Amino acid sequence: MNSTTMISSDWQSRADALAIDGRAFVDGRRVSGSERLTRPAVSPIDGRALAELTSCGRADVDTAVAAARRAFPAWSRRAAVERKESLLALAALMERHADELALLETLDSGKPILQTTTVDVPGAISTLRWYAEAADKQGGELPAVPSGAIALVTREPLGVVAAIVPWNFPLEIAVWKLAPALAAGNTMVLKPAEQTSLSVLRLAELAAEAGLPDGVLNIVTGSGREVGAALANHMDVDALAFTGSTAVSRTLLEASARSNLKRLSLEAGGKSSNVIFADTADLPLAAAKAAFGAFYNQGQVCSANSRILVQRQVHDEFAALLADAASAYAPADPLSGGEGNGALISSTHTHDVEAWVTRGRTDGEVLFGGGRRIIRGSDAYLEPTLLGGLSADHAVHREEIFGPVAVLHAFDTEAEAVAMANATDYGLAASVWTSDLSRAHRVAGDLLAGTVSVNTVDALGNTTPFGGFKQSGFGRDLSLHAFDNYTAPKTTWIQFG
Ligand code: NAD
Repeated sequence: MNSTTMISSDWQSRADALAIDGRAFVDGRRVSGSERLTRPAVSPIDGRALAELTSCGRADVDTAVAAARRAFPAWSRRAAVERKESLLALAALMERHADELALLETLDSGKPILQTTTVDVPGAISTLRWYAEAADKQGGELPAVPSGAIALVTREPLGVVAAIVPWNFPLEIAVWKLAPALAAGNTMVLKPAEQTSLSVLRLAELAAEAGLPDGVLNIVTGSGREVGAALANHMDVDALAFTGSTAVSRTLLEASARSNLKRLSLEAGGKSSNVIFADTADLPLAAAKAAFGAFYNQGQVCSANSRILVQRQVHDEFAALLADAASAYAPADPLSGGEGNGALISSTHTHDVEAWVTRGRTDGEVLFGGGRRIIRGSDAYLEPTLLGGLSADHAVHREEIFGPVAVLHAFDTEAEAVAMANATDYGLAASVWTSDLSRAHRVAGDLLAGTVSVNTVDALGNTTPFGGFKQSGFGRDLSLHAFDNYTAPKTTWIQFG
């Protein structure tokens, strides 16, 4: 039986047998933190305490940064091919421990085990391998200069890189940061979200087992206000890679300005549109993908296509198809091994998302869903929900809900659709459905988004950059462009004539 066909009781017994260590990981070993403070890591799937998580403080951040600083000279001077081998060894170990990592991720974040075993963990491994392989395939430049001289332009690692990551894709987004940063020769201090630290802590242990030297990868657990802010304000952190909210992004910019002008890359929030024209050839496919775009991962996706704009001629037909397609995202036991959404990140967050449903019901209507479910004794489960009858400038259209709640709106003309899609402070992603090639190019060109998907939704891959325009941030994860976050060009002039 492979991992995805295991049934709930199998996963539950494996969960019961897991020995989970919630201590931080600094300078190659587990540490309890200087103040020995902890908080419980609570599973949203059933409210059970999983581990005691170390609450690091400023002193622990200083210790981790110092360890990363000590490790930097040797790691950065290693031949790129050796860094590649270390990272490939880590990828191989992750593969060997894939079920354990998936189980930790499910217990910690509420995602269904079917998703963590088939998407999150394999995705993280594939990204790590991709950057490991890229490590020794980068070259410099030899620009034209006056005769009698040579100028070499090389890409240099920046030094100690901090990463602060969110709870919606804990392992994958951590790897999006650490893989290119370490491959390029930097060392790292990573702060996972306080809700979801367990998979990344285990990853750091595996990294040590794979032969990464002490101090190359450090994990400091704890709150954003304490640990995140200490990293953001640190005078010996050279760059900070962040994924999270636009509000926190602002504080990081201020901290960089106040401290040492550390370089920032910010992947912030989104409110992405999915624009469906009446000439779409396969409307059922568009509806199935729209459901994925809005409700996958419990809707807790920065690039969720949560504003669905449909040309009026097909609006009612599409709404009916979407209602059918959404049933695939009905909440289910995350350990069942089957289809369906899992738990949202917490009961409190579910309550906040539900408040948006109430608002939508008051000002417009709930077209389907809206109900909270109790599974395994936890109330952190919400049905996929579609709101309608709301004006295009309603807060539901503009603000990030970060849950399985989408809004449907009809449009008449192409110009109206583009204007509506662009009427947001964010610019992370957008999708367009049409059979008209000219329209596809025209609308894709007019949409202000870092990624536009045509006749699909939320397309993503290791080879293509991911990031935003406007208040969705700057800098790019994935692809060779991510190296720009972690390296700087250095020019060496050699005069010989
Ligand atoms: P958040 O911004 O509250 O937290 C993200 C991380 O920042 C966490 O590790 C948190 O501890 C830390 N943090 C919080 N306050 C901090 C502070 N004052 N200083 C330093 N660090 C601090 O976001 P969240 O609620 O965990 O995640 C959801 C948000 O993340 C959404 O806005 C979502 O759109 C965004 N997100 C964006 C992307 C992307 O690629 N653009 C991907 C995933 C999630």
